[in-house]
Amino acid sequence: MAIMPVSRRQVLKLGCAGAAAAMVDKLWAGEQAKPAKGVNLNKESSMASQNNDIFKDAFENGKYKLPALPYDYKALEPFYDEQTLRLHHDKHHAAYVAGANMALDKLENARKNNDFAAVKAASKDLAFNGSGHVLHTIFWHSMKPGGNNGQMPAEFKDAFKESFGSVDAGLAQFSAATKVVEASGWGVLAFEPVSDKLVILQCEKHQDLTIWGVTPLLVCDVWEHAYYLKYQNARPDWVDAFMKIANWDFAAQRLAGAKQSLATAS
Ligand code: MN
Repeated sequence: MAIMPVSRRQVLKLGCAGAAAAMVDKLWAGEQAKPAKGVNLNKESSMASQNNDIFKDAFENGKYKLPALPYDYKALEPFYDEQTLRLHHDKHHAAYVAGANMALDKLENARKNNDFAAVKAASKDLAFNGSGHVLHTIFWHSMKPGGNNGQMPAEFKDAFKESFGSVDAGLAQFSAATKVVEASGWGVLAFEPVSDKLVILQCEKHQDLTIWGVTPLLVCDVWEHAYYLKYQNARPDWVDAFMKIANWDFAAQRLAGAKQSLATAS
């Protein structure tokens, strides 16, 4: 059986690394799915049989959708109680879904009317609610009835060892980092494709104006250092100038690459 390079969806198959998938999506360069040292997974392994395309149930008919839980409400007892799970999924996650769809509607109306007066608030709403939707969708799959009792697949242990020195050290860092996330947020185990390693991140709130899982296609720097010498305080002039020199061929290539990596991973 051939060893396949790790892909975004293969990372998704790792239950304990569910949150990693978000970062993979976010940072995925979009070209060729490149093998991660120590994260090479056998596509035909038993892990593959656990695969669900977890996002398939989270979007339908052009709208975000509350996905069904992959287990019964009582299935995580006593570690995660039924009442909390019901509220968390049926109310809180549902509110993110509704909020994201509402933000998309507002933005669609803004485009139709060419009236972007409320674009800042709508963009913030989309980031907050969209990120909440994506992260919760991954979160439900990050837990498993009965758990794995701390066990992880051999290939994933190798990735832990390479990234954190040892499995125990990585687990200790994940636990410690998650406990001290400032205010509200998430502990995130992620695959970081530049270093080709796993990283552990603290995510405050859950958005900071992005939706976890997106692949950047084109970016414009609006830190003052990017434009101040020429445009001083006139950031709009810089953005207008950028729009004239934007490389849409590059963006198109990245979009094709991102879609290809999804297609080849399925
Ligand atoms: Mn939550």
